[in-house]
Amino acid sequence: MRIPQSERELTWWEKIYLPEVVRGLAITGRHFFVNLARHVLHLLGFNKVPKGAVTFQYPEEVRPISPRLRTVHRLARRADGSPRCVACMMCETVCPANCISIVGAEHPDPNIEKYPVRFDIDLGKCVFCGFCVEACPEDAIRMDTGIYDFAAYTREGMILTLETLLSLEPAPYVKVPPQDRAADPGPIHARKGTVAPL
Ligand code: SF4
Ligand code: SF4
Repeated sequence: MRIPQSERELTWWEKIYLPEVVRGLAITGRHFFVNLARHVLHLLGFNKVPKGAVTFQYPEEVRPISPRLRTVHRLARRADGSPRCVACMMCETVCPANCISIVGAEHPDPNIEKYPVRFDIDLGKCVFCGFCVEACPEDAIRMDTGIYDFAAYTREGMILTLETLLSLEPAPYVKVPPQDRAADPGPIHARKGTVAPL
């Protein structure tokens, strides 16, 4: 039976650490010099040599992201601008991190049962699993804003409120279904920066 790495006794050689430190430095150094050589060979026109690893100069240079990436949530709106959400609590119930908090109220339109008067998502607790999006029967909550670099100075600053969630737009690469176009018009917000007031 294979013993898990965490339960295995360290050997004497491993306990003195220095050889492992040297081994780590050797691996890092090998990658550095191989990449350097590949970049230099490409500059000299040896294009058959595989390209060296590329480092993005973040945050000045933002790496392209996949349209499938789950990013900060938003709440979709109806054509009249009201929330599409019917405060059914499905997302709150399914959330494994307990980070959604909804307060619902009776909707004046008898065809719509309820609407949210309060809808908070605590991004400090969210694990970005996407269960809330999957569970929503109204397609009201989406994780397609393209925003992933958010931060706040306080824990409260990590909480997205109903107003913030309704104000966020889909990322430019997201195809908005025709029935939503009136409700989700452009322009698209910048993808960088915080999404919650600090
Ligand atoms: S993505 Fe997952 S953890 Fe985050 S709010 Fe949705 S269900 Fe909860
Ligand atoms: S976002 Fe969807 S699942 Fe969550 S309360 Fe609103 S309608 Fe229900």
